[in-house]
Amino acid sequence: MKFDWLIVGAGFTGCIIAERIASQLGENVLIVESRDHIGGNAYDYFDENGILVHKYGPHLFHTNSKKVWEYLSKFTDWTPYYHRVLAVVEGKKVPVPFNLNSIQALFPISISHRLEELLYENYSFGDKIPVFKMIEHENQELSFLGNYIYRNVFLGYTVKQWDLKPEELDASVTGRVPFSFSRDDRYFKDKYQALPKHGYTNMFKRILKHQRIKVLLNTDYKEVSNEIDYKRMVYTGPIDSFFDYKHGALPYRSLKFDFQYHEKDDFQEAGQVNYPNEFDFTRITEYKKLTGQYAKGTTISIEYPKAYKAGVNEPYYPILRKENNEKYTLYHQETQQLKNQVIFAGRLAEYKYFNMDQVAARALHLFETEIKPSNP
Ligand code: FAD
Ligand code: UDP
Repeated sequence: MKFDWLIVGAGFTGCIIAERIASQLGENVLIVESRDHIGGNAYDYFDENGILVHKYGPHLFHTNSKKVWEYLSKFTDWTPYYHRVLAVVEGKKVPVPFNLNSIQALFPISISHRLEELLYENYSFGDKIPVFKMIEHENQELSFLGNYIYRNVFLGYTVKQWDLKPEELDASVTGRVPFSFSRDDRYFKDKYQALPKHGYTNMFKRILKHQRIKVLLNTDYKEVSNEIDYKRMVYTGPIDSFFDYKHGALPYRSLKFDFQYHEKDDFQEAGQVNYPNEFDFTRITEYKKLTGQYAKGTTISIEYPKAYKAGVNEPYYPILRKENNEKYTLYHQETQQLKNQVIFAGRLAEYKYFNMDQVAARALHLFETEIKPSNP
């Protein structure tokens, strides 16, 4: 078989790069995917009860990038959706990211007024304040608020999710969910927030619908790469595996999803409820509340964090901390020697905690800067 490009992985990164190469350069692409479906971790499907669920946990699309939004909008219509998350704190379900409404729900009115006053004195309305920054604040009461949020929202959840305390991870991890000095309960504040109207998988099918793109499922690229004639490769799998773990395995966290169907129309108060402190799981997602689907009954998934074991479960999350980032740098240096043959891109190949819009932006950028210029 003869192709211009071999792309490993049919997730966001692989699909977008394939589409660009086929439609803009007119070159032939083979995508090899080890799973039995396209879409990577954003894959969704209708379960046996007819409810659209996300196989690898809740995927909410949000971006500030007009470019990414307009690109994806060529392949899907959207259902506007603003994600709202509640976390169980001291027996009450309160909005997360923690905000003025969460304070009001948890503290006596005199204390919540006092904290609000202090926030106005020290910050600007609308500010997003990472929990560690608040803990460090010179004002004792604000530092108390930071510590309260740390203990009740972050500590238990993070130990379950990562088997590490928040301070043992890169600050950017908990920084994803900063205190929001507002009454805005939305989980994300981005300009564009929506879910593909007919699902992610449907959107990927349309991205890949091109005569110059072929997809081979259920195939690890290592099984077939010697039999395929190609000029260049885009690799979106785990970078340590590509180099046969020569600098040691990069650690990842995995998850186990317990999907349950309930014969009632409404399971919980919001699309996602987090359990920072109680139980062994971190969060419960109710899919109908995300997609807006009308259906009888409802399907939820309960997420149990797990250690990652190659060949046993999936490498969902790179574990961002100093020693792992340093190990990744060793692998990244190896990639420089292959620069003209292989492009490493995506969450696993770059060992970055990327959201979907970030990998989409990266894929479009790589096409413009590294793929298109080398094909005059
Ligand atoms: P992937 O989607 O991981 O695709 C890589 C593909 O390569 C996979 O399909 C894999 O099977 C394949 N592959 C790997 N090795 C090989 C091999 N050797 N041979 C053949 N194929 C191979 N982002 C958001 O923006 N919003 C969210 O709400 C959100 N929620 C998330 C929830 C969870 C639980 C997880 C894990 C991630 C979430 N993300 C979310 C992140 C999102 O999933 C990623 O940003 C995105 O899917 C990354 O796309 P990718 O193409 O880089 O990688
Ligand atoms: N986090 C937390 N409690 C929460 C929500 C998030 O401790 O209620 C921390 C936790 O460490 C988590 C990280 O913030 O892994 C990032 O949260 P996010 O919701 O972005 O995680 P993802 O959706 O990527 O799993």
